[in-house]
Amino acid sequence: MTKTEFICAVGKELNIINTGDWKMYPVVIDQEKCVKCSMCFQYCPTKSVKYVDGTYFINPDFCKGCGVCIEECRSNAIDFVKGE
Ligand code: SF4
Ligand code: SF4
Repeated sequence: MTKTEFICAVGKELNIINTGDWKMYPVVIDQEKCVKCSMCFQYCPTKSVKYVDGTYFINPDFCKGCGVCIEECRSNAIDFVKGE
C-alpha cells in the first residue's frame, strides 16, 4: 500500500486531500433559489457541501462533480457551470 492509498482511506472522510480536479465542471449553488433545506449537505458523499454563516456552499477543492446534490435539491438551486 502506498502512502497516498493509506491517506485516502482516512482522508476521504476528513477532506484533507484536494481531489476537486477530478470533476469536469464546477458545481455551484444559486443562493437566490436555495431554501436551506440541507439535503445537499446531508447527501453529498464527500462532505463537500459546507454550511457557514447560514449559507450552504460547495467546496470546489473536494467536490467530485457526481451530481448527487443536484438530484437531491428540490429547489433546482444546484447545477453544473459549463462553458468556463
Ligand atoms: S438542497 Fe438545494 S435548497 Fe436545499 S440547501 Fe442544498 S442548495 Fe439549498
Ligand atoms: S457534485 Fe457530488 S461531490 Fe460535489 S457537492 Fe454535489 S454531491 Fe458533493
